[in-house]
Amino acid sequence: MDKIIKSLITTSVVSAAFGLAGLLFHLSFFGVFIITTIVQFILFFIIGSFADYLGQLKLREIETQQLKEINKSFIDVECPCDKKIVESVQIKLGERNTYVCKDCGKLNAVYLNATSAATNVPIVKERDVVKENGI
Ligand SMILES: [Zn+2]
Repeated sequence: MDKIIKSLITTSVVSAAFGLAGLLFHLSFFGVFIITTIVQFILFFIIGSFADYLGQLKLREIETQQLKEINKSFIDVECPCDKKIVESVQIKLGERNTYVCKDCGKLNAVYLNATSAATNVPIVKERDVVKENGI
């Protein structure tokens, strides 16, 4: 609210200054005051819209960057060569993942193997389930 009042006061002061300047050229103070006020509102609207547009662009850029960062994940893999060098390799889902061993210089592919397993339920919770069912 303070910001709006300050903005209106500033706009009025600027318009009054232009109105006074208009008096030097034998123009109507209120005419110049009103026109200057309207021009300022239009300029503020255009500047505000442009700032919003730039903000939206920046926000989209940040969101795109965040999505790129989320897709990056690293995994430690062991080179199939004799030295079994372990390296951290960036994994990209949906792409063929390869890396060059720093020791032997061979190009290696990384294959992902997903498995599923039943989660364990704590014994205390299991007892509660048994009691609730009256078993
Ligand atoms: Zn190697």
